[in-house]
Amino acid sequence: MQNDLYRIDGVFGDGNLYSSANDLLKWTEAWKREFLKANNNLMEAFQPTVLNNGKLSNYGFGFQIDTLNIQYSHTGSWVGFYNYMATNLKSKETIILLTNNSNPSASRAIQQWFNHKTVEFQKSTLITNVRIIDGTGLPERKGSLRIKGNKIVEMGLLNPYIGEEVIDGQDNILAPGFIDTHSHHEGRLEENLEAIPVLSQGITTICIGQDGFSQPMDSLKSRYAQHKPAINLLSYTGHASLRIKQMGLRGLFRTASDKEVEGMKMDLENELKKGSFGISTGLEYEEGFFSNKNEVISLAQIAAKYKARYMSHIRSEDIQIENAIDEIIHIGAQVNLPVQISHIKIAQKSKWGNAPQIIQQLQAARQKGVKISADIYPYTYWQSTLRVLFPNRDYDNPAAAEFAVNQLFDPSESILLRFAPNKDYVGKTISQIAELRKSTDAETLQRLVADASLFEENNPDYSGSIEGIMGKAMSEEDLKTFLSWPFTNVCSDGGFTGHPRGRGAFPKIISNYVRNQPLLTLPTAIYKMTGLCAENLGLTDRGILASGNFADMVLFNPAKIQDKATITQPQALSEGILQVWVNGISVYKDGKSTHQYPGIVITRN
Ligand SMILES: [Zn+2]
Repeated sequence: MQNDLYRIDGVFGDGNLYSSANDLLKWTEAWKREFLKANNNLMEAFQPTVLNNGKLSNYGFGFQIDTLNIQYSHTGSWVGFYNYMATNLKSKETIILLTNNSNPSASRAIQQWFNHKTVEFQKSTLITNVRIIDGTGLPERKGSLRIKGNKIVEMGLLNPYIGEEVIDGQDNILAPGFIDTHSHHEGRLEENLEAIPVLSQGITTICIGQDGFSQPMDSLKSRYAQHKPAINLLSYTGHASLRIKQMGLRGLFRTASDKEVEGMKMDLENELKKGSFGISTGLEYEEGFFSNKNEVISLAQIAAKYKARYMSHIRSEDIQIENAIDEIIHIGAQVNLPVQISHIKIAQKSKWGNAPQIIQQLQAARQKGVKISADIYPYTYWQSTLRVLFPNRDYDNPAAAEFAVNQLFDPSESILLRFAPNKDYVGKTISQIAELRKSTDAETLQRLVADASLFEENNPDYSGSIEGIMGKAMSEEDLKTFLSWPFTNVCSDGGFTGHPRGRGAFPKIISNYVRNQPLLTLPTAIYKMTGLCAENLGLTDRGILASGNFADMVLFNPAKIQDKATITQPQALSEGILQVWVNGISVYKDGKSTHQYPGIVITRN
């Protein structure tokens, strides 16, 4: 017996007795004999206690009752170790376990024994010799990280346990898996569950349901329960999708009636209960454009009721951008919920250079307490429909087409990505198509929009999008100003096909804005791709390397990480990501899938 009680550790009364397994066994045999005699006083130790509130507690005056009259147990612990003593009166077995593992793992092992299953302790893995950048913005520190199951359990200067799996990180950077707050990769994920374009960027979680379009949580959950992906997903609920359900696909070009808004509110509420992270709007698109402020606000109020969020592809990224930003600030202020501007940009030539004023507008709102933030992808060209080039929806107006080619995009650098009416145009710039047609850029733009709507009318059952364009429209200076704002996180806005951002956005932040033309420090860049993303989405247990958090991680060499996708080669995969873990499982290594699929649909707590 030995006394190691410290008065300052706040534990009194226990911890004072050391015993051996043999002694504990003798003691157990002794109480079992008494138990069988049914000594009345002693039996109180083996019966449930009635609490003052009348409820039964399964802890008697001395034992944890696992199964009444059959199985009893008790634990004891002190700093650094833990024991578990369990007796089954029916099978006449007693187990006395001393462990430096956790309580749940000891209890699990004992249950496995009593149920005649193989006793298995969960194994841990130690990743050593890494430079840890934890996603909070703090500088790197050398050390190791231990994972067990799907969680990080320890970080610091750690030594391997006997027999533990050890991965030598070879002095590379270990960071939280990147979180893409605005992704369209879900579009082809089901056929590409190994998600190479996503993992080769170091992304472990994508946020879908963007720009106002989403699918019901139930179908999302059941789809990925059947076909598990390598990456995690979470979803917002799309405003346009709510509108379509209430108003029909052809009935969207007006404000919604009170009854329809009530229907949308109910549908949104159901989705939030099923784990949606909030509401997303795409107010620049026709499916959302005709909604009025009240409709959007009443839906945002539902999101606020559930402590969820509002995310928006705002009403204008060009001629009305200032008003569109006022609108989202107003929603954040009036409804008092966090609001996020999706893929922030200025897509109008005469307004290039105005990013500092917009940041001022956002800062002023933050100072008044509006929780506003933004995401951004690191490219000066967008991808969308030709129709957004007519912000006043006056597709027949030659002056509007003229304005578009002069102000809203550069026709000589903007490529048609899809065009169902004439596949020969795909891959060509608007200027090249104009040349083929022996016409001007403006006339060509107008003609293309008209041909696309005619095609849509004649082919009402055509599935997939009829047209799409990659529009060169932003300035590098504005991009840098927005990216530097402390509340802007990184997103891709990308998919499996189309714009190079779908395969290069995250590595490009490091190769371009940390290495080639230093704008951000590496820890800040990582914070903008991890911790800040989690914060802006309301994710609490990912995005930062810390014990207790999910083990979503990326190992890379900061000197070699490089995006390869370009406008002419949008399919080229990024390089330099060495290994990626999702929920504690290695999913990507040396440029290849490990064919493990631990990804889940994350739901809001
Ligand atoms: Zn968008």
